[in-house]
Amino acid sequence: MATRTVLIAGGGYAGAGIAAKLAALDARRSFNAVILDPSEFHAVKTRLHQIAVDPERDILIRIPTRTLADFARADFINASVEEVDFKNRRIFANGSVYDWDRLVVATGAEPNYFGIPGAAENSENILSYESAMRCGLRIKSLGMNKRGASKKRIAVCGAGLLGVEFAAQLRQRYGPKKCEIAIVEKQDRIIAASQCGDAQRDYISAFFKRENIRTLTGTTISKLSPGRVWLEEGKHIDCDLTVWCGGIKRTGIGTAASSGLAVDPTLVCREHENVFGAGDSAMVSSPLPNANSLTAQRAIYHADIAAKNIIRSAIGLRSRVSRYRPKGELISLGDFDAVGIVFGAAFYGPACAAAKKANELKYLSTLFGSAINKHIV
Ligand SMILES: Cc1cc2nc3c(=O)[nH]c(=O)nc-3n(C[C@H](O)[C@H](O)[C@H](O)COP(=O)(O)OP(=O)(O)OC[C@H]3O[C@@H](n4cnc5c(N)ncnc54)[C@H](O)[C@@H]3O)c2cc1C
Repeated sequence: MATRTVLIAGGGYAGAGIAAKLAALDARRSFNAVILDPSEFHAVKTRLHQIAVDPERDILIRIPTRTLADFARADFINASVEEVDFKNRRIFANGSVYDWDRLVVATGAEPNYFGIPGAAENSENILSYESAMRCGLRIKSLGMNKRGASKKRIAVCGAGLLGVEFAAQLRQRYGPKKCEIAIVEKQDRIIAASQCGDAQRDYISAFFKRENIRTLTGTTISKLSPGRVWLEEGKHIDCDLTVWCGGIKRTGIGTAASSGLAVDPTLVCREHENVFGAGDSAMVSSPLPNANSLTAQRAIYHADIAAKNIIRSAIGLRSRVSRYRPKGELISLGDFDAVGIVFGAAFYGPACAAAKKANELKYLSTLFGSAINKHIV
């Protein structure tokens, strides 16, 4: 059988995971995987808040995608997919054209500014390795650790998982004498109900109170301007830096950008033949409550299903169905504290922080261990 090309747009959790799984499963080497990504690095995103606070702490947070591709016997092209010609099975990336037999759209998610004036221009975000690094360098340039430096003010827009983890990490690095932190949230509570229970929310609120992190829930941001977060009724917060953790949306290519790629529960796109979607950019038609949550867990789960279905479809086997159910969520509060629920059991404190780090290491081992990490198709 001739080798078939699987083009994977996006080398994140889903894309790199699919390449690794294909290498483990495709004993006959009937597929040649090619990862395309504008970033040279695969980011361990669950730790991006760490470099967004301290850009020097990037060990095991960025891994060259080329190295991951080598481990997965895949090729890597450092380019952004700009356009897809589904009919003729071609994509256009950085002025070149690439043909495919199977295409996987795994382009992740990007900040959602909800049309708030000035939000994109006047804030940093922590969604990609590059943007988190830029945020970290801006924070460093505030010189908060310099002797005699005046206290700086940082506004965090959004108290979901991203905003909470970033604010807590920032406080660990810079104490209340060096930095005032205000976190603004439109909802009347921090963290979405799907990500934690009331007891965990109370734990985080107590942490914020103890650590002097000002929390403004039920507060809508109307505009961002340089050095100022505008709230309703003309109220505002002045700040030296604004960090946007207020929302994310699916990154689509060849589709409506904000809704991602619509796929059926086997992760196949019904509109276009031999096209798969995985991870944050995939919108799965499923009645399961968390079928479309934007999480690393889901992207890793999708990588397994998509890789199996790429192979199964080629040998005429029935495709596996995605039935994603989250195991739970662990939320970091700096390096030594965390809170979360896993399989219904609640965890708090240093043991929970250690469990989260162990999870991240386990994830890395699956990427590098693809050659010995064989599973049943
Ligand atoms: C700070 C932070 C903390 C988080 N914490 C958690 C957590 O604790 N638990 C959890 O489950 N999830 C967490 N998440 C969410 C999780 O990281 C994402 O859900 C996960 O990265 C999704 O994986 P993905 O492969 O779909 O997308 P990504 O990992 O984002 O990868 C997408 C890739 O596509 C590339 N790309 C984009 N556009 C194009 C294009 N046009 N052409 C080619 N490539 C393109 C990007 O460069 C990127 O490399 C966190 C996210 C952040 C930012």
